[in-house]
Amino acid sequence: LDDLSERESLTDHLRRCERQILAQQTIIRLLAEAESLDDATPDFLEAMARHGEWDIAAFWGVDTSRPGMSRTCCWCAEGAASAGLGTDSAQGTVRCGEGIVDDVWRSAAPHWIEDVATDFRSWPRPDAAQAQAPALRSACYVPVVFDGRVRSVIELASRNPRTRDEEQIASLVALATLVGRFFERERADEAIRASEERYRTITEIAHDAVITIDETSRILSANPAAERVFGYSLDELIGRSLTMLMPDGMREAHRAGMRRYLTGGRRHLHWESLELPAIHQSGREILIEISLGEFSEGARRTFTGFIRDITERKQAQTALAYQAMHDSLTDLPNRTLLQDRLHQAVLVAHRHATPVALLLLDLDRFKEVNDTFGHDSGDALLTQVASRLAGAMRESDTVARLGGDEFAVLLPATDTGGAVTAAERVGDALRRPFTVEGHELEVGASIGIAVYPEHGNDSAMLLRRADVAMYAAKRTARGYTVYSPDRDERSSLRLLVTAELRQAIDGNQLLLRYQPKVSLRGDATNNVEALVRWNHPEKGPTSPDQFIPLAEETGLIKPLTAWVLNESLRQQRAWREAGHDVRISVNFSARTLHDPDLLTTVTRLLEVWDTDPSRLIVEITESALMLDPDRALKTLSDLHDAGVWTSIDDFGTGYSSLGYLRRLPVDEIKIDKSFVIDMATNRDDASIVRSVISLGHNLGLHVVAEGVENRRALDMLVEMECDLAQGFFLSKPLAAGDLIEWFGTPRPRLAVVS
Ligand code: C2E
Ligand code: CA
Ligand code: CA
Repeated sequence: LDDLSERESLTDHLRRCERQILAQQTIIRLLAEAESLDDATPDFLEAMARHGEWDIAAFWGVDTSRPGMSRTCCWCAEGAASAGLGTDSAQGTVRCGEGIVDDVWRSAAPHWIEDVATDFRSWPRPDAAQAQAPALRSACYVPVVFDGRVRSVIELASRNPRTRDEEQIASLVALATLVGRFFERERADEAIRASEERYRTITEIAHDAVITIDETSRILSANPAAERVFGYSLDELIGRSLTMLMPDGMREAHRAGMRRYLTGGRRHLHWESLELPAIHQSGREILIEISLGEFSEGARRTFTGFIRDITERKQAQTALAYQAMHDSLTDLPNRTLLQDRLHQAVLVAHRHATPVALLLLDLDRFKEVNDTFGHDSGDALLTQVASRLAGAMRESDTVARLGGDEFAVLLPATDTGGAVTAAERVGDALRRPFTVEGHELEVGASIGIAVYPEHGNDSAMLLRRADVAMYAAKRTARGYTVYSPDRDERSSLRLLVTAELRQAIDGNQLLLRYQPKVSLRGDATNNVEALVRWNHPEKGPTSPDQFIPLAEETGLIKPLTAWVLNESLRQQRAWREAGHDVRISVNFSARTLHDPDLLTTVTRLLEVWDTDPSRLIVEITESALMLDPDRALKTLSDLHDAGVWTSIDDFGTGYSSLGYLRRLPVDEIKIDKSFVIDMATNRDDASIVRSVISLGHNLGLHVVAEGVENRRALDMLVEMECDLAQGFFLSKPLAAGDLIEWFGTPRPRLAVVS
């Protein structure tokens, strides 16, 4: 069945999305917990392979020992090792200009081999022989990109031929991007580790200066390293006072300290180490670390110091600390520092009961610039953006680069109003074109705003919410958006309900109620409108108004409509077999009109249930028709030509012109219940109902009044020669079983039409 396969393909799609999210979460977790890339590689390879149902996953990294790439890690499904690309061949290498790994490396574009049997050309060279003989048939290669460059290639191979699957490619690319991010993080960590290491070795190799003095601070001995540290020759040092190596301000303190020590009760120095300033022979102040000890020989007391020059180390530490907190390209504070400052700002704001605003900003067309003009231009642009941003803000604000083309501005003591003004200022600053290497570039920005305490109480929450707002700004192409709480709650709730609704359609939680449409002309046919209900496992029966809009937005309306149609026709057949001829109306929503398979679905189901097409009425609201008149005309014509009756629902709420109505192949109009409900007491409503009835009759249409809630309205409709009536006064929507009973009971006596 077409509708079934459609439903299947839709649910299949949603399942794939779900799997994708799951795989992403797995990989994020793996990467977050891993110590290093090497550590994480086998696990994320496995996760990627399992996600895409591949037999083999391999990681191609740059080989530093030769020009080319090597397969540095490989994961094989059980039994796949024997397929020829097992761990034993993990040493595969691709030299520059060779094979597909190299292509992917150079082009940064994923590549798919459907079947080696027919597409052998580009299998990575070292594996060619292996791949040919054994069972590997297809593969997909995705680049791992970070900082705009391909850093490695992930290879996924299968023992079966596989047709190119764009969705799968997109999903693998997304996973590879996560891996790329991790690379970036690891590289940063590595840089810090490497420089720390370097400084440790330097100081270790360089032997400490060793100087011994007597009680009067006279230098008794010094080693060659002391010459190097202080710049004096040993001759110049020995016999002189240690104070010659001290800055002016320290000499007196030293003498006093020495006196105190010698006369005080303290007996021994315990190699305590101190950081002190000292003076180099050149007059330059240096920073030394000195460990001091006392050696006493009889009555003679001497003191020895082991001394290191830590000036450079200190400077390096300071530089490292700076690097760790700043972005190397723009010199702006980085994410770590921003988080830190945001945290501080929130603490201060909390104490003083003031607000703090956070702006998160993402350039709109940065990727284009990077792709078109290259990374150097991209970098130059970012630098200019950074300086314009810094220029547009006050000294007390923090402008930070969070990575890529993402920036943040922290505005202390600023409320939502102030943040909006700042966002506008930022927008203005970035609107002027940038000149990069002779090109005039225009890049806009999307800005998300979150404010303490309104939108969050801590820095993490504010960052997350500013991010939500930024995406909203991006989506709506508005320059900036202030976070609004329903924005992300709505979206997560929506996801949940969407998943539930999908299950409901699959899992028999939907049911139909049937509301009779009573003929006012004494005509014997039984007419009903099928109305869907969702029997929600927790919330109980849920009205269509609460889930049809969601179904429309998410595309679930297609399987839902198919379900309703099938169920209606099945029920109709059951009634028919029990001796009741029932004409059934089914609601089609606006989105349904855009479904190219709609007609096929309808005719197929009519065949399945062996139904006369004229026993089916399709209701489409007037507003849906007006949304896309040409489309509506086409769909209605198709249905009409197939013999199905068409009805305009909620008539009177849209603004269809008479001329338009004439063109439509329509059989019935249903006057909207808003006019009918009060027609007994509201003269305007009554006259609208009257004119719609005569308009409909003029066009040769059946007219139905819905929302008949009282006797008086029913009488008036009879008098106005309305054809059919529907409403609570006649009957509420009923379960299929109750409906048979209802058909059997006498109708309210209708006024006699004269
Ligand atoms: P609708 O097509 O205008 O359906 C009539 C609605 O008015 C039904 O609400 C019905 O229970 C209600 N109603 C009937 N008589 C009276 C009355 O005398 N007074 C008042 N105040 N209301 C009355 P329901 O079942 O909650 O359906 C609401 C809407 O949901 C429907 O409006 C229709 O647009 C949509 N819907 C229902 N079933 C389906 C479906 O299977 N597919 C699609 N696409 N939409 C559906
Ligand atoms: Ca309807
Ligand atoms: Ca209606």
